[in-house]
Amino acid sequence: MANFPVASWEHLTDDLLPSDAVIAIDGPAGSGKSSTAKALAKRFNLLYIDTGAMYRALTLAALKGEIDCSEENLLVELASSSSLELKTGRGEIGVFWNGEDVSLAIRNPEVDAMVSLVASHGGVRNIMVKYQQALGRRGGVVMEGRDIGSVVFPLATAKIFLHATLEARVDRRFKQNQQRGHQVSHEELTEELARRDKKYSERATSPLVISPDAHVIDSSGMSLDQQNDACALACLVNPALDLELDTDLETALREIPGNYRFAYAIMNGLSRFFGMKEVNCQGKAVPRGCILASNHVSLWDPPLVGSTFRRFRVHTLAKAELFRIWPLGALFRWVDSIPIKRKGFDGTAFNLASESLLAGNNLLIFPEGTRRAIGFPGPVRNGLGILVQATRAPMVPIFIRGSYGRCPMGSQLSPLEISHGPVIRWHGLDALLETTDRKEVSRRIARLCQSAFEELQARSFDRISQTDFEKKVGCKQLKKFALRQKKVFGT
Ligand code: C5P
Repeated sequence: MANFPVASWEHLTDDLLPSDAVIAIDGPAGSGKSSTAKALAKRFNLLYIDTGAMYRALTLAALKGEIDCSEENLLVELASSSSLELKTGRGEIGVFWNGEDVSLAIRNPEVDAMVSLVASHGGVRNIMVKYQQALGRRGGVVMEGRDIGSVVFPLATAKIFLHATLEARVDRRFKQNQQRGHQVSHEELTEELARRDKKYSERATSPLVISPDAHVIDSSGMSLDQQNDACALACLVNPALDLELDTDLETALREIPGNYRFAYAIMNGLSRFFGMKEVNCQGKAVPRGCILASNHVSLWDPPLVGSTFRRFRVHTLAKAELFRIWPLGALFRWVDSIPIKRKGFDGTAFNLASESLLAGNNLLIFPEGTRRAIGFPGPVRNGLGILVQATRAPMVPIFIRGSYGRCPMGSQLSPLEISHGPVIRWHGLDALLETTDRKEVSRRIARLCQSAFEELQARSFDRISQTDFEKKVGCKQLKKFALRQKKVFGT
């Protein structure tokens, strides 16, 4: 049974889950995702979305149109020129391709045989992922698939990685087939599932991976009811932990020392001067010893992002060069900033940052390591993952937009806005470390943080469309910033 880190979990009642929750369920074939996803949708009154059905519908259309399933361009063209509709409900879903109901046909053996090839194309996944995000962005959904927690919804309320041993999954499939009147031997099923496991975990685009913040639930020895209950409980953990934060906030408010109050007064003045808008920041509590990870587009980011924390004390990791500039250096030291050398690995800075987090301080970092082109957050450096593995510190992703084109009282060129994401907690880290080396775990944490930036950016563009200025400057910066990468990191 998974180990849930809540003070007392008798109090985990279903009403803790917000009605706009997004529950992401990933796992290998035969792990029982579909049954559990449907059960959770019913229990929490959410919409059930089966992403596999989308890849199946495209596969069926390709087979009908005699399109070669290894031809990515043809498949992309087919997907872009057709309409796919999921009539979602609280139980079974209806799948419509160009208006035709294909809900049953997508389950036929010809589709089974080709769907994984179709789903392995990056171009196909781009289209499907965008559609899935559009379906789920308003929340209130349970979505199952292979990459929901890691790619489609990096900021999901709850992520579950459901798995079971190969033997347990083969047994389940065998019984399912018997009930449906299909005769497939144990040996054949074992071979098929093992082959699919290998294929999904090794494929280049969106491989099946445990997201480091997912609850990993091994259902091998569980009945379906036990599996559903364990997953339902997992869905409530983050909302319950978020509730526990409120009391911390009160204490934090009383503890802000004078130097921080002074720094916050200056930073707040700045953010008001530039007409900055805050989304999901005000009054929000974060856990003690939390990493506040922001994207970086301008030298104005540190004070502007800093201004959104006015309720608690924050240490910052800042590039060592800044500490040599008077009076910046003195100011940084005054608010406990930690200098970091960006070329190579700065062990001293990492040790100080880890100590600060473990002592319960919050730490603001810019994990991309340098400024990036606007509109193109990332890549995030592996240092973030090293810090997370050393401290297990939860993380709040933060997205800043418009600091590059800022103007007094607000800019028409690029709206100045900061949004905070939800607290990301590393529920799956131990399970991940059992099967994955530390470097790879750092890469996955980095990738998740980048996906979180991209999702916060997409939400921001939903509120106010990306401006022509942002598009133009972003594209120009891309080239320039690739050169800077070499200069700053030596790689
Ligand atoms: O879940 P189901 O077996 O219906 O999914 C069909 C196929 O679609 C899977 O075998 C997998 O190849 C692909 N798939 C995927 N990513 C998802 C969902 C399904 O690659 N998110």
